[in-house]
Amino acid sequence: MADQINKIEPDGNPEIGEEKVHVFEAWCKKCGICVAFCPTGALTSDANGLPLLTYPEKCTQCGMCELRCPDFAIAVRPREKKEPKIVTTGESQ
Ligand code: SF4
Ligand code: SF4
Repeated sequence: MADQINKIEPDGNPEIGEEKVHVFEAWCKKCGICVAFCPTGALTSDANGLPLLTYPEKCTQCGMCELRCPDFAIAVRPREKKEPKIVTTGESQ
């Protein structure tokens, strides 16, 4: 239980820290749905069937694992929004 939710963020979602994907072990029933639906193969199951972000570099933070989990046992950190680029053509009017 030590890795469970530390606090709830203002938007009502649990704080999941800096990691891309967090598994709430106490809620996970080790069904493997999240692993099966991960489109990049970033998630695998450990020896006990618990999902593990084995290849974090492959994780695109698409949210599919979180969406498919029937027990709300996995959370994906939202992608950071990038500032829009301002493109100038160098031409003056
Ligand atoms: S967020 Fe997407 S890419 Fe990352 S582990 Fe979940 S399903 Fe896979
Ligand atoms: S889909 Fe949810 S309950 Fe099933 S293994 Fe993944 S995190 Fe655990």
